[in-house]
Amino acid sequence: MIYFDNAATTSVSKTALEAMLPCLTENYGNPSSLHLMGQESNQALDEARLTVAKCLNARPDEIYFTSGGSEADNWAITQMAELGAKKGKKHLISTTFEHHAVLHTLKRLEKAGYEVTYLDVHEDGLVRPEELKAAIRPDTALVTIMYANNEIGTIQPITELGAICHEKGVLFHTDAVQAVGHLPIDVKAQNIDLLSLSGHKFHGPKGVGALYCRRGVRLTNFIEGGAQERNRRAGTENMPGICGMAAALQEAVDHLEENAQRVASYRDQLIEGLSKIPCSRLNGDAKQRLPGNVNMCFEGIEGESLLLRLDLAGICASSGSACTSGSLDPSHVLLAIGLPKEIAHGSLRLSLDEVNTQEEVDYTLQQVPQVVALLRDMSPVWEQMQKDGRA
Ligand SMILES: *Cc1c(COP(=O)(O)O)cnc(C)c1O
Repeated sequence: MIYFDNAATTSVSKTALEAMLPCLTENYGNPSSLHLMGQESNQALDEARLTVAKCLNARPDEIYFTSGGSEADNWAITQMAELGAKKGKKHLISTTFEHHAVLHTLKRLEKAGYEVTYLDVHEDGLVRPEELKAAIRPDTALVTIMYANNEIGTIQPITELGAICHEKGVLFHTDAVQAVGHLPIDVKAQNIDLLSLSGHKFHGPKGVGALYCRRGVRLTNFIEGGAQERNRRAGTENMPGICGMAAALQEAVDHLEENAQRVASYRDQLIEGLSKIPCSRLNGDAKQRLPGNVNMCFEGIEGESLLLRLDLAGICASSGSACTSGSLDPSHVLLAIGLPKEIAHGSLRLSLDEVNTQEEVDYTLQQVPQVVALLRDMSPVWEQMQKDGRA
């Protein structure tokens, strides 16, 4: 089985598993307990927080553990909107191709009377800094723009966008779930006030993530109950998850450069090889792109059929985001970069990472063109395109 769906989730690394096991067996104390076992857990929690903080160039008291990326996004956006409203600022800025954890939170806020400006991400999947500058108003409370897109992998000019926000006195949040552990991140140098991350996108476990919130930005409690996470998020800490995530992040950051280089070479081989298929196109900018992201459209075929055939050939791929592939709607990301509906249906996302191999890339380069040709042979759309001289 070839796993090319690392943007949906990743395997738990050996290092992460080894960090988790003691929390599930001998060291199961509650970090809030006063006895020795509790205090040992509390110490492990402190260490994990310090590790996560260091990997982002943040301080430990700026890290809040959550149940994942979705919770961190919901928390950051909802509370910064409420904070703004208290000062009479009810305008938010985002983009058209955010993850649904962001988009649906914004939709809820719109229903509650907030106004949201969605910046265009253009054909290359990139926000234009001057368009952000022009969109900021005196009543803008928050700008939330994803670091790297989960479907087409485009990387935004975060440092520049953050600088514009700070110049105008607006808070800047980024959903960095696809970037953390894969790209170098420095929240201070990059002008980031709030950042969401998730353990299972960099070989940590599922169901755990974190919100970074810069010191001085008022974050109020999100879940009521006990005093965990400095009174901000109640609930006994997910110790195995937190320790596993911290270990996975440290490992990813330690090997970031070498992993990125190898993975990018696989990516470029796949893009080059698959671009030879007639009537194909790469979605998203070729350079400002996650090292492991390949997203292509092949005209005249259905993305779903392509995925099923590849599955039979032992290749796990995706037609975009795992959250939307259960529905038949074309991807909102591909529509956001201006693709017509019929083409947006035929997309293929291969998301690679350091556990993949050259053999897997070679095999895929052999299989995909065959499957595309086979499906086109059976496609009335393709037949029509040929008759019209479009293929
Ligand atoms: C996976 C993902 C999320 C959601 O994270 P969970 O931990 O699964 O809740 C949010 N944003 C992006 C960009 C993602 O890729």
